[in-house]
Amino acid sequence: MDHFLYKDGQLFAEGVPVAEIAAEVGTPFYLYSLNTFLRHFRLFDEALNWGPHLVCYAMKAASNQAILSALAKEGAGMDVVSGGEYARAVAAGVPGDRIVFSGVGKTQDEIRAALTGGIRQFNVESEPEMRAISEVAVSLGIEAPIAIRVNPDVDAKTHAKIATGKSENKFGIPIARAREVYAEAAALPGLRVVGIDVHIGSQLTQLEPFEQAYKKVAELTEVLRADGHGITRLDLGGGLGIPYARSNEAPPLPADYGALIERTVGHLGCEIEIEPGRLVVGNAGILVTRVIYLKEGEGRDFLILDAAMNDLIRPAMYEAHHEIVPVIEAGVAAELKPYDIVGPVCESGDTFAKGRLMPPLVAGDLVAFRSAGAYGAVMASEYNSRPLVPEVLASGDQFAVIRARPSFDEMIKRDTIPEWL
Ligand SMILES: *Cc1c(COP(=O)(O)O)cnc(C)c1O
Repeated sequence: MDHFLYKDGQLFAEGVPVAEIAAEVGTPFYLYSLNTFLRHFRLFDEALNWGPHLVCYAMKAASNQAILSALAKEGAGMDVVSGGEYARAVAAGVPGDRIVFSGVGKTQDEIRAALTGGIRQFNVESEPEMRAISEVAVSLGIEAPIAIRVNPDVDAKTHAKIATGKSENKFGIPIARAREVYAEAAALPGLRVVGIDVHIGSQLTQLEPFEQAYKKVAELTEVLRADGHGITRLDLGGGLGIPYARSNEAPPLPADYGALIERTVGHLGCEIEIEPGRLVVGNAGILVTRVIYLKEGEGRDFLILDAAMNDLIRPAMYEAHHEIVPVIEAGVAAELKPYDIVGPVCESGDTFAKGRLMPPLVAGDLVAFRSAGAYGAVMASEYNSRPLVPEVLASGDQFAVIRARPSFDEMIKRDTIPEWL
C-alpha cells in the first residue's frame, strides 16, 4: 500500500497534488511519501516483535539525509556499504551501535573510520578482509565485532544482476568453509565474533529461497556454537521484493517473512537483524516527469520524456518494469495506444518501455513512474550533463525539496581547469 492515489482525477502524494509540486520544483524529480516508508519500516519491526531484533535499513536503496533522519527517529538501524554511507548514517543521527557495515571491498580507511566512530558489527566477506579488520582493530586498540557473511548456495530466483547467494557470486564465503574461517577469526587478535550474516539477493518474490538459506544458517549456528564460537546475532540480510507491475502476483508480506524467520531460526535465542531496503522505500517514491514530444515513427510512436536513463537506470540496467501513469487521470472512456517511452539521452538504451499502452497524452503532460523510490535517485548520474535529479518529500499536506536541482553553473563549477593548461 502507498500514499500515491488519485483524488478528483489527479494524482496526489499524501495530501498534496503532484502537479502542484511539479509546478514549483520543475521536472523531472523524485517524490517520496514519508508515511509510506515509515509504515513499511514499522511492518518489518512488528514482524520481528516475537524476539530481540534490529531492522537495519539498507540505505543504498535511497540515502537522502531526510529519509535517513526520519528512519533514525523511528529507531531504525542502518546497513551501510561504504565510508560515505557510514558518514551519512552518522550525520542523520544513527548511533554507531545501530550501524552494520556490509560490502566486499571495505578499505582500511573505511574500517578505521567505522571503528573510531562506533560500529555494531562488520559483516566480513572474505579472509583477506577479516585480516585487514584485525590489523586495523589492533592498531587502534579497539575490538571489532564481526559476523561472517556466508554464501548458502541457494537460488534466489531473481534477476541475475541482483542474485548474490549462489556460489558463483562474489559475495561472502562458501558455507562449506565456514568452520575453517570462523576458527581463523577466533585466532586473530582484535576481533570478536558475534554472529552470522547472510544476504541472498534482491527483489525476491517467494519465501522459499529465504527458508532454504535460513535453515542452513540455523544448522551452521549449532555447529559453530559446538566449536565454541559465541553466536548471539543472526543478520539475515534484505531482499524481500515489491510488486512493480499491477498484474504481478503480490510478493510475500513482511509479517509472513517475520513468521518464517521465527520458524527457521527463532529457537536459537539469537538477536535477529534484517536489512530491508527496497521494500521500505520502493513503493514510497515516484519519478515525476513531463512529456516533451510525441513523435510519430515508422510502425511505432514515441513518447519522449524529460526524464532519462541517467535519472532512473533500472529499466536499462535490469530490464526493470515500472508502471507509468498520467498525473491527470484519463477518463474511463480513454482509448489506450501503444508507445515506446524514451528519454532524451543519446543511447538506444535510454528506453523505459516498449509498446506500453498509455491513455492519450500531449506534450506538456505530466506522467509518473511508480515504485521508483528504491535504487532510483541513488543511481542517478549527470550523464549528458543533465543536472542531478532533485528529490522532494511529502507528508500530509506539506512537501519540501530535500535535494535541490543543481544549476548548470553549480554543475560546471565542480570541475577545475588546471592553471598550466
Ligand atoms: C542490497 C543489500 C540489501 C538490501 O536489499 P533489498 O533488496 O533492497 O532489500 C541488504 N543487505 C545487503 C548486504 C545488500 O547488499
